[in-house]
Amino acid sequence: MVYKRNVKGRTFARRKICRFCADSTIKIDYKDHQTLRLFISERGKIIPRRISGNCARHQRKVTRAIKRARNIALLPFTTTTTR
Ligand SMILES: [Zn+2]
Repeated sequence: MVYKRNVKGRTFARRKICRFCADSTIKIDYKDHQTLRLFISERGKIIPRRISGNCARHQRKVTRAIKRARNIALLPFTTTTTR
């Protein structure tokens, strides 16, 4: 179970489900940046496993795919946000 604090200060539980294990039709591909984008924050950082809920095996695959996608400029290393 993942406990996340929302704006009002209440904690709510979300069950950890690895979406790649749950749906075997989803493939982790470095060319598929739309899927990979689900696992990076808006600042371009990779979302950690405890938040994304992926299992270790798939999180590793996602991480490698993201790093590969960054190298060929499909995903940003960091996104500059205007303040
Ligand atoms: Zn998995």
